[in-house]
Amino acid sequence: MFEYNPKSLKAEEFINHQEILDTMAYAEEHKNDVELIHQILEKARPQKTDKGYSCAGLTHREASVLLASDLPEVNERIFEIAEEIKLAFYGNRIVIFAPLYLSNYCVNGCLYCPYHLKNKHIPRKKLTQDEVREEVIALQDMGHKRLAIEAGEDPVNNPLEYILECINTIYSVKHKNGAIRRVNVNIAATTVENYKKLKDAGIGTYILFQETYHKESYETLHPTGPKHDYCYHTEAMDRAMEGGIDDVGLGVLFGLEGYKYEFAGLIMHAEHLEAVHGVGPHTISVPRVKPADDIDPEEFNNSLSDETFEKIAACIRLAVPYTGMIISTRETEAVRSKMLKCGVSQVSGGSRTSVGGYAGYSADERPHDTEQFDVSDQRSLDEVVKWLMESGHIPSFCTACYREGRTGDRFMSLCKTGQIQNCCHPNALITLSEYLEDYASPETKEVGYKMIEKELMNVPKEKVREIAKQHINDIRTSNARDFRF
Ligand code: SAM
Repeated sequence: MFEYNPKSLKAEEFINHQEILDTMAYAEEHKNDVELIHQILEKARPQKTDKGYSCAGLTHREASVLLASDLPEVNERIFEIAEEIKLAFYGNRIVIFAPLYLSNYCVNGCLYCPYHLKNKHIPRKKLTQDEVREEVIALQDMGHKRLAIEAGEDPVNNPLEYILECINTIYSVKHKNGAIRRVNVNIAATTVENYKKLKDAGIGTYILFQETYHKESYETLHPTGPKHDYCYHTEAMDRAMEGGIDDVGLGVLFGLEGYKYEFAGLIMHAEHLEAVHGVGPHTISVPRVKPADDIDPEEFNNSLSDETFEKIAACIRLAVPYTGMIISTRETEAVRSKMLKCGVSQVSGGSRTSVGGYAGYSADERPHDTEQFDVSDQRSLDEVVKWLMESGHIPSFCTACYREGRTGDRFMSLCKTGQIQNCCHPNALITLSEYLEDYASPETKEVGYKMIEKELMNVPKEKVREIAKQHINDIRTSNARDFRF
């Protein structure tokens, strides 16, 4: 029997099964307790301070009560507060990225993933360094500056040395005015030593989805391969942080297990990182299981409605106000639009989930042979950028924080001291201007420059505003790029 202890380094103590069950029971018991709910909502609201805003966040128990409540007025308040928090800390900026699949060789047996070892009809492919270069050029030509690299787990075909070589290649490609300035990495759980090597290679966030926090289900869903080891997987973020990576990204693959269980586990994981390392997760992703080769999502009986999915995102926003939230192209344009109102701060655009899916294909041609899952939002990056601006969001290609060493708690303190408006806001406008000049369609460019003109007025410090204006002018009139605060 394991005791709940958020400071423990043992998976079954910081993600404690009994504590999750007790949390769910507590939430069920209090889901109509209007007085308690009112207190929780008050605690979650951003408070104005002399430096900007501050937010207390919520414990896994408090957040679970909100998630369980089905009182319409409570739900309405949750969504309102989620939007308030998003605006207070992240403003109306939405960071843009794309996945880059390096290899679909995999030795695991994950029941929801088409890359599982027993799938004999999916072609296996691993990019050569020349192919990585071609993919990166194609991504740069779309306008991307930030990638998330993806690979199956296969110590023979995709050892860490291969991943490191690919990262090096990606950063080295300088094509026209393009550059990939931040490479986030989504690869299997590994050792402290390997995390140190990833840190030295200059990665941004290390992302690893927990898939499910429910140990028994986890073991059933991962019947074979190294990923079968629940504790090794769950303790990966602690090893990553020990290896010096201070931006880590959590995620649950929603649909595999009951969402209330997953939600409590996810918030407990964030609390654990804060308790042990003094900094919570940099991002949380909310993927849902999608149809794929050899995979039928109907086989997993925990699929959730769009409404529940949106409420989960809003409750995450209230619980961990300073953590970025990511929504991928697994979701449709309609769902993504709603998720933007629930506190999402990063979206992917123009994504391909196959190995070698970018180079040599036009915007409406999609290779499916090596694909990991069906992409629901199939719009081009240009369409995504225009859509964001037309709904009042600034698409940001900024990577400045990581390159200026503002990671981990230093990024969080930027968030907490309200300096984001003098730093991230102009950086977003500057990088948007790079996008508009180098890659946008004429219509997107027109919408974009109108937005930039209007949004420059929202930079509080006059000096910063003037410098930003000058940088944007330089971008428009020359090939000077990569300005940042
Ligand atoms: N191989 C690495 C690992 O095991 O963590 C990570 C890379 S994998 C390419 C990225 C993520 O895709 C997985 O963590 C999983 O959550 C997600 N995924 C796998 N199959 C999926 C499906 N059918 N629908 C949606 N997402 C899926």
